[in-house]
Amino acid sequence: MEEKEFTAASFYRFLDRKKLMGSKCKECGTLFLPPRPFCGQCSGNEVEWFQFSGRGKLVSFSVVRVGTTSYEEKGYSRDNPYCWGVVQLDEGPRISALLLGANLSRPDSIKTGQPLKVVFPDKPEEGGERNPVTFRVQ
Ligand SMILES: [Zn+2]
Repeated sequence: MEEKEFTAASFYRFLDRKKLMGSKCKECGTLFLPPRPFCGQCSGNEVEWFQFSGRGKLVSFSVVRVGTTSYEEKGYSRDNPYCWGVVQLDEGPRISALLLGANLSRPDSIKTGQPLKVVFPDKPEEGGERNPVTFRVQ
């Protein structure tokens, strides 16, 4: 694994290269996603890269009809909402992500506990805008 700083910027660069990378404490084994340069569990500062499987379960979600400016520029609106949720990865950590593949016209059909799988970006970030962490309902 190449040496990179344990930062959000590194996390998003890995994401563009189709890897979901976090950090693992060498002392106690706690995993962090996005990566951290130190351990919030035992205060250890020896961490290493850890590649996640990209599989997880839906913990919570919101169907967003009034989104951020950048999402409105992507074509999302009251009539074309998007879904943002919290994913618990099989390895333990949770991360917030854009959710694809859910029936947003029937939010009651979206269930917590549903299995999800990461979707990697088609192309690298452009103009400093990061690709969102994205998961698809299985
Ligand atoms: Zn630790």
